[in-house]
Amino acid sequence: MDLSHPVEVVKGVGEQTLKKLNKLGIYTVEDLLYHFPRSYEDRSKIIKISQIEYNKTNTILAKINTLPQNIKRGKKIITKVNLRDDSGSIFAVWFGQPYLKKQFKLNDTYIFTGKVTYKYGQIQIESPDYEKIVDDKDIFTKRIIPIYPSTYKLSQKVIRQIIYNALVETQNQLIEFLPLWIRKKYKLADYNYAIHNIHFPESEDSFLISRKRLVFEELFLLQTGLMSIKNKIGKNKKAIKFKEIKELDDFIKSLPFELTNAQKRVFNEIKQDMINDKIMNRLVQGDVGSGKTIIAALALFLAVKNGYQGVMMAPTEVLATQHYKGLTPLLEKFNIKTGLLTGSLTKKQKENILNQIKNGDIDIVFGTHALIQEKVSFKSLGLVITDEQHRFGVRQRNMLSEKGNNPDVLVMTATPIPRTLALILYGDLDISIIDELPPGRKNIDTYAVNSSYRHRIYQFIKKELINGRQAYVICPMVEEAEEENLKSVISYTEELQKEFKGYKVSYLHGKMKPKEKQKIMNDFSEGKIQILVSTTVIEVGVNVPNATIMLIENAERFGLAQLHQLRGRVGRGEFKSYCILITDSKNKVTIERMKIMKKTNNGFKISETDLKIRGPGEFFGTRQHGLPDLKIANLYKDIPILKKAQEASEIILSIDPNLDKEEHKFLKEKINKFFEEKIKNISL
Ligand code: ADP
Ligand code: MG
Repeated sequence: MDLSHPVEVVKGVGEQTLKKLNKLGIYTVEDLLYHFPRSYEDRSKIIKISQIEYNKTNTILAKINTLPQNIKRGKKIITKVNLRDDSGSIFAVWFGQPYLKKQFKLNDTYIFTGKVTYKYGQIQIESPDYEKIVDDKDIFTKRIIPIYPSTYKLSQKVIRQIIYNALVETQNQLIEFLPLWIRKKYKLADYNYAIHNIHFPESEDSFLISRKRLVFEELFLLQTGLMSIKNKIGKNKKAIKFKEIKELDDFIKSLPFELTNAQKRVFNEIKQDMINDKIMNRLVQGDVGSGKTIIAALALFLAVKNGYQGVMMAPTEVLATQHYKGLTPLLEKFNIKTGLLTGSLTKKQKENILNQIKNGDIDIVFGTHALIQEKVSFKSLGLVITDEQHRFGVRQRNMLSEKGNNPDVLVMTATPIPRTLALILYGDLDISIIDELPPGRKNIDTYAVNSSYRHRIYQFIKKELINGRQAYVICPMVEEAEEENLKSVISYTEELQKEFKGYKVSYLHGKMKPKEKQKIMNDFSEGKIQILVSTTVIEVGVNVPNATIMLIENAERFGLAQLHQLRGRVGRGEFKSYCILITDSKNKVTIERMKIMKKTNNGFKISETDLKIRGPGEFFGTRQHGLPDLKIANLYKDIPILKKAQEASEIILSIDPNLDKEEHKFLKEKINKFFEEKIKNISL
């Protein structure tokens, strides 16, 4: 059986099961085998009833000795059944589940796991988990068995059986794709062994050995795939050598504020890259509001005064326009001509701009994806900047660079990626970090409340509006969807219009036309709109210093990094600002996230913690960056393995840069499969 076969070839997968498996994202045999357990239950430790330990969790294999009885005790119904094995007998009791009475038949055998107590003069196992055993030789008794994460209405028993069947049918047939020297050097288990033992470990050791192999494998595939794309970019090319320009100091002096030390340091790093003969490939990481835009302006200034053109691409029209409008007045004073290219220009306007870019009349172009979609050609492009890089793909950045003759490249992101992930994503980029906010910024007070507080919150917002401030309200969806509790932008706006009579409440969402969006944003930033109800389109970069309230509905819907980005829209001016998170969720992870948001305003700390509390596949960064999901590696715990995987990738690519050698054939196939279509969209 081939791993690429559809999962329905596995014994036990009928039509109904197939549908459910598909819901879990399982389509092939490989998907099934890579559906790893969340935890394990150690049934190798089944004991005799005579060996039971009180006040501890015990697992026994026993027969139903008496038919279950429902007994009333006060208002509670207790279901009680006697169990026996060849060493003795014990009662099992459940509370408030009278239907269990019909569950058990005389002499059927079950495994029970639960806490054993001695009460009312008898030994009892309380509310035990139970699973029926068809016969004593059942493969799943007396061993460590897997517990799967999401099962989408498939019982653990069914999914366990199916995976077991797939393992039997593929036994020792999985083709090892890791070269032998790698397995030897890093002491990694064989592929077949690892896959089998991650599901049905023979012992704790065999689990650990298998996990290590699979974590390594995952990180190695990821790393090798990424490095091989990077290696194809910008190798052995000659860069522009920019010269230092005196006028730059005048430009810096002309700015409305003094640069922070962090800004000075980071710009210096950029300048050094620009004046040497290597192609700059630098990532500027800085928390929301740390002042990245002005750094971009300085670099663009330097490029233009060296006789080159510069381009700055932003992920949304709102943001591109904001950059254009914000920086043009500063640059104009130094005879620098700017332009804006977005999708919503008329044909004529577009042609006009394109011409000016081509003949060099425009020195700096701001814009959106239109910069790569339209037939833009530059006279002499020397510097390419992408803002909010995590919203772009590596390919898009390259398409922009290719419009120049090896221009220097600067990428900026407000996603404070933890070092571990930065290691993966930006392995060969130089990184500059702006670790300081401009002076005078006040901490944003953050509250997390449930919806019963909504009325009080409205009162609070009213106070701010009376003082002339503005508010953002974020909802997860555009239109009322099947999920009733989700506040939707349009209907919620109507509600708020009634609540806030005399104020202007408008909405903004991603499905609106760019022109409409722009109009709303302009009105909001000019204070014509007091409350802006929005989806997360507002998340990146928008700067309205007069807004002091960020209210987020259904906060459980958003990842920590996203919440932090949203919060960064306020606290941008002189006024004290507030972020209010509304959620009725009692989910542990949600509660944990809300706590972190309350505790810190530091983006790096937030993303580190996010990494800790989330499972490997859920990690915000990987999905957001368009990377394949990680199924087993944990980027927090598995850093030592990550380092080894990186080392191995480097070695293998130095021997065989395109993995064309025969012995790397399967590895190459595996990498391609691992990345699938995603490779195009990876954001580096
Ligand atoms: P981000 O890093 O999130 O892109 P911006 O570049 O939009 O941040 O800057 C946020 C705000 O801080 C802007 O209003 C900008 O003018 C202001 N700003 C930037 N640098 C400084 C500074 N050194 N001193 C004071 N204000 C600054
Ligand atoms: Mg920005």
